[in-house]
Amino acid sequence: MAIILLDTKTVNRIAAGEVIERPASVVKELVENAIDAGSLEIEIKIESGGRNLITVTDDGEGIEKEDLELAFMRHATSKLRDGRLIEIKHLGFRGEALPSIAAVSRIKLSSKASGANEAWSIEYEGGEKVGKVTPYSLSRGTHIEVRDLFFATPNRLKFLKTERAETQSIVDIVNNLAMINYSKGFTLIAGNKRLLKCTKQASLFSRLCEIEKEFQSNSLEVNEEEDGIRLTGHICKPTVNRGKSTMIYTFVNGRPIKDNLLIGAIRYAYHDFIPSGRYPCMALHLEMPYDQVDVNVHPNKSEVRFQNKRLIYEVVTRGLIKVLSTRIGAFDVIPARDTRIYAESQRPVTLMAEGFVRDAVSTASDAQYERRSSPFENQLMKQFTSPNIEAKDLSERSESFNYTNIQKSPPQAGTMVLEREQTDLIENHPLGFARCQVYNTYIIAEVRDKLIIVDQHAAHERLVYEYLKRKPSMRRQKLLLPETVEIKNQTGMEVVEIYKDKLFEMGFDIEIKSENKVIVKEIPTILGAIDVKEMLINIVDRLMEIEDTLPIEDKVNKVLSTIACHGSIRAGRKMKLEEMNELLRQMEETPYSGQCNHGRPTYIEMKLSDIEKLFERR
Ligand code: ADP
Ligand code: MG
Repeated sequence: MAIILLDTKTVNRIAAGEVIERPASVVKELVENAIDAGSLEIEIKIESGGRNLITVTDDGEGIEKEDLELAFMRHATSKLRDGRLIEIKHLGFRGEALPSIAAVSRIKLSSKASGANEAWSIEYEGGEKVGKVTPYSLSRGTHIEVRDLFFATPNRLKFLKTERAETQSIVDIVNNLAMINYSKGFTLIAGNKRLLKCTKQASLFSRLCEIEKEFQSNSLEVNEEEDGIRLTGHICKPTVNRGKSTMIYTFVNGRPIKDNLLIGAIRYAYHDFIPSGRYPCMALHLEMPYDQVDVNVHPNKSEVRFQNKRLIYEVVTRGLIKVLSTRIGAFDVIPARDTRIYAESQRPVTLMAEGFVRDAVSTASDAQYERRSSPFENQLMKQFTSPNIEAKDLSERSESFNYTNIQKSPPQAGTMVLEREQTDLIENHPLGFARCQVYNTYIIAEVRDKLIIVDQHAAHERLVYEYLKRKPSMRRQKLLLPETVEIKNQTGMEVVEIYKDKLFEMGFDIEIKSENKVIVKEIPTILGAIDVKEMLINIVDRLMEIEDTLPIEDKVNKVLSTIACHGSIRAGRKMKLEEMNELLRQMEETPYSGQCNHGRPTYIEMKLSDIEKLFERR
């Protein structure tokens, strides 16, 4: 067969196939051009998910009349001067967007170059220029209209999703670009609805709060640097998490980037803080010398290649873990307004108390806490051996309160002995002295200037987890009666085979008995008497969920957290005063004990001054 050179029109359509996948890609390219042109206000309008019409109006430097046609030529760009492809400071540099969009739609670009007296328009349809360059009325900047996207390539039309889904991807793209370009204003209008309005901001943080309200009162600052790689940004406390990753904004040298390495590093940093399948909320900006990152990897420029992957991974994990652990684990560095007691929020005091109660109740009704309680013996805290009392429905429990029985008399002799110790605990310990247990689920402790409410299950779970983690090959106990467990599906059995040795290191001796049965002979001593069957099935489920891509360490931690959940004091079990105080002391010594490994808080605190406000003493 004879070889021919493809004509420009075909070449552009092929390029369009890569650059312009859907309406959101058009929006991305046009908005990037507006940003590159130094605009301060950018307005985007779309009709029917961008399929019928996309317009982008900016107030940037504009295009000279004689350059209009050039702008629609392939590989024509004003942004690469020396052709070195190294110092890429603009969002665009490939000179492909305009010719690609023109190849698959009807486009009209009107622009007034700064310093010019008149504005001019140029039009293309399916890659062909239509008519001449004509005068246009525009006070400044550039105005672009893209109609009937993909009319020239109907195949593409079939792949478009619903109007709602396409609109959502446009919102996501604009959100991302607006986030990192915080000093510019952005407006997005769909039909007659304004979907987004961002005003010019002075910092990434203020833009973040403008777009994602959660950050206002829940965020911590990230700042890490090594060898010219700088990581800055803000993360929400892990208790604020989502089922989707849309609230993870990542940028590299000012460019929104979706990169597996970054996501992997983020997930790793958070694995101890949020449950699997949940995603944290954050905006992170990685800045590095231009020659250390290749942005010319993908036609739509949303992927990059890092020169030193390892260093990037380290900077990101270290930066995040540092913030997560110092702020959550170490009590002494949590400033009062940074604790999760809503004190910092602007809400009126009564609302504060409402939120407080609401949170407590929702935690108690969480499915995690409603599981059957199991008796167990615990090496870590030997005292925790009193019999289980089944958790009752919260309302039922409160009904059973007998108010007439409230003691007005001074404490009994037995507790008097503790008096000196008590005072010391209240005055000098971060979690103070445990006074009592309520609903058989929460411990109430008194500290000098605040009241603490501990969720006994969540707190203990964290302790067990940290303990397991520190001693992966800890002591194991032989089960008197080895437990036969049936694993119902094939993948489950495969998973057991693959992880048998790893589980052995964690303290489980498991033998495969038949096609669908395994025998558990030993379990970690710390777990005491637990429901082995239920635990193993849960571990297998967990392992099946875990993606192959996760580092092995990550997998182990996931399994450990499943185990910890099973091996912990249940909500609903009555605790003795000494047990409660022991739990508080253990929490004080354990890293990250401020939240359970599902990301929920293990305790909350209420400042005495806030309580006084509630009672109008202040
Ligand atoms: P690239 O952005 O990679 O340079 P494009 O095809 O997106 O390629 O744009 C081609 C050229 O058109 C740009 O280099 C720029 O000079 C000019 N241009 C496009 N859009 C605008 C705009 N909104 N304002 C000013 N100039 C623009
Ligand atoms: Mg461009």
